[in-house]
Amino acid sequence: MATDPAPNVARILPSDRRFPDSPDGGQLACLCSRCGQPITEEEVEQDGPPIRVWPEEVDSEYRFHPRCFGVYEKETQ
Ligand SMILES: [Zn+2]
Repeated sequence: MATDPAPNVARILPSDRRFPDSPDGGQLACLCSRCGQPITEEEVEQDGPPIRVWPEEVDSEYRFHPRCFGVYEKETQ
């Protein structure tokens, strides 16, 4: 099966935004690298904490809603 992986499956995309800060999930400044929306307290409670990815040798991070990063599967059909 040499099909392309789903676009949201556990990989950093060139379009993902990298942040120099690292606010806790639920804070207004905690935006998702992929969808750009805040990772809210409710979402943290429901889906778990944001997924954070640190690039090597760079003082910054990517962070994602678990759903956006493709690692949340409780409610997928
Ligand atoms: Zn998101």
